[in-house]
Amino acid sequence: MRIRYHHPIPNFYEFENPVSPINSISENILNELNEIVLEKGFIGVSYSALSDDFKNEWNIDWDNILILKYKMSDDILTMDPSKEKTVLEDKEFQEFGRRTFEVADFLRKNNFKADLIHPLDDSVSLRAIAMQSRDCIITRSNMCMFREALNVGFFMIKTSIENLPFKDENDMLWVEDFCSTCGICIDRCPEDAFDENGKFIRKLCTAHKKGCSKCVLICPFYKQGYEKVKKRYDRKQARG
Ligand code: SF4
Ligand code: SF4
Repeated sequence: MRIRYHHPIPNFYEFENPVSPINSISENILNELNEIVLEKGFIGVSYSALSDDFKNEWNIDWDNILILKYKMSDDILTMDPSKEKTVLEDKEFQEFGRRTFEVADFLRKNNFKADLIHPLDDSVSLRAIAMQSRDCIITRSNMCMFREALNVGFFMIKTSIENLPFKDENDMLWVEDFCSTCGICIDRCPEDAFDENGKFIRKLCTAHKKGCSKCVLICPFYKQGYEKVKKRYDRKQARG
């Protein structure tokens, strides 16, 4: 059972799914989709194709997933932990949830099946689905980081579209090595939410209960951005 730190999102669909959905998207519609996503304030889309093994493991029959990513507000993130902060985080989450329904409606209007995967669904790990995109990585501080930012939230839409630009390889795996030699989040966590091996202990973390964001704010990926940290890492590797 996962902690429920957000309120349920009401259903905002304005269109029904098509009776005979199509499964191939043209370049034009895909470009239009990406434009709409950006217009709505998301920072981009990632795509997961779920393998049979994955589907069996989680007992789901979804195939193709759009991951709509939004950057959690820096203004909220930098607030001290408080009830007010968690309320603002939930408000932001609700707003991007509403916009996700609008994106799903755009797809439905274009004859694709599109359904929001409920973010509070306990039966499947959305992070596990996100990792199937090969476009993100789980950091030591347990953030699901995409290259656009560390402080990324996301919503997912399962769809009939089969020809999405899925990635073959995850080129962010180096982050695991970087985290293994960094450990700033472990040293600075006010709740000691890591075990003696540096493994994150979810039940001790107060991110969702009280709005702690300390490990995000002091993380090199937040302070410098993904590309800068990567360049520094590559230079160090080259020196040996
Ligand atoms: S602070 Fe260091 S160890 Fe922690 S997540 Fe960021 S890079 Fe990884
Ligand atoms: S959010 Fe706060 S409590 Fe949780 S791991 Fe990060 S620093 Fe520790």
